[in-house]
Amino acid sequence: MLSVNDALELILSSVHTRDQSEKTDIFNCPGRILFHDIISEFNIPPKNNSAMDGYAVKTEDITSASINNPVSLNIIDEVQAGNEFTGEQLQRGHAIRIMTGAPIPEGADTVVPFEETEESGNIVKIFKNTIKHENIRFAGEDIKTGNIVLRKGTRIDSAESGLLASMNLRDIEVYKKPDVAIISTGNELAEPGETYTGKIINSNAYALYSEVKKYGGNPFYAGLVKDEYEDVKARFLQLADKDIIISSGGVSMGRYDFIPDVLKEIGIHIKVRTIAMKPGKPVVFGTLGNSLFFGLPGNPVSIMVAFMEFVRPALLKMAGSNRISKPVLKAQLTESLSKKKGRRHFVRGIFTIKNGQFFVSTTGPQGSGILTSMSDSNCLIILPETIEFIKCGEYVDIQLTGHNEI
Ligand code: AMP
Ligand code: MG
Repeated sequence: MLSVNDALELILSSVHTRDQSEKTDIFNCPGRILFHDIISEFNIPPKNNSAMDGYAVKTEDITSASINNPVSLNIIDEVQAGNEFTGEQLQRGHAIRIMTGAPIPEGADTVVPFEETEESGNIVKIFKNTIKHENIRFAGEDIKTGNIVLRKGTRIDSAESGLLASMNLRDIEVYKKPDVAIISTGNELAEPGETYTGKIINSNAYALYSEVKKYGGNPFYAGLVKDEYEDVKARFLQLADKDIIISSGGVSMGRYDFIPDVLKEIGIHIKVRTIAMKPGKPVVFGTLGNSLFFGLPGNPVSIMVAFMEFVRPALLKMAGSNRISKPVLKAQLTESLSKKKGRRHFVRGIFTIKNGQFFVSTTGPQGSGILTSMSDSNCLIILPETIEFIKCGEYVDIQLTGHNEI
């Protein structure tokens, strides 16, 4: 039996990042992974421009300005965002009304916001001595020409979409998504939506489908397979061209748990058979060429935890992501927990923040068939292999799940 760390290391060392790319338009790029570094071909912002609505003036004209002793300047023009002042250099004693985003006229070196002024006719009274360069956004202060703005392997999120657009890009080169096939095994299973007959309804395929999609894979549901050796073998053979194949069920010690033998027979090099963790001890991992095979246990919580700890990082690495490991936080336990020594436990937890302190409690019963423990949780509490008991109030490691995890 391998430790969680050794198993993860072994799995990741077997993963080859895909080297194929495709173009995607800017609307469809969120969630995709950049195939190249993105270098800006121009400064952003392109010109020095005003950060406020106000008056562009010369600092030297307004050094003495105050509430009680305003300075009066002649308004000679106005410049709106989208226009540019085309006159001569701004002279002493003059001011130009300017809107946010408009280029700073030649000769002006500060902007006094409207709130600090009073206008009447062609004259503006300035009540405040803004300092040199105040309220001016300088050309290239966000991005300079030639800068690497986004690195290869970056997952495109909202800010990255905005940045790509601001660099004038519409078609983005991203890694092709790995093709991931999902199989559910078990004679006891029925598909959701059919007439209910009391059979166990296949939930694993749908939870896995969702996870694969979420972490940048292209999921393909290959259907239910009976616990018959030849059926299981035939289904795996049909899917051998996929990048990753994930099965659920059939990896334990039962008489009809055929997955490991089938994988061996079709030539898959099995590298992991069991992992010292709970839930999810029987996890089979093997490779054939660049394809990865994960035989996960059947219990609904086990597959989700095993997916999170092993399939997720493997999928992210294959998909080209440069952020594979999940951050670990420390939170204070609000209850005492006990376990047997030897395995790492992943306990479904509820993480809260009170007065700036992180706390975590369990979701209650932790059976590996209790899928509501996953949906009730927002984190996994990680209890190390070596411990048997942790007291209420002690700190434990947690990994956030759900939407706030990466
Ligand atoms: P197994 O690992 O095949 O022995 O499965 C363990 C248990 O997990 C089974 O008894 C089922 O109750 C449950 N199970 C297996 N496959 C699924 C599935 N696809 N969806 C929901 N529950 C499942
Ligand atoms: Mg089974």
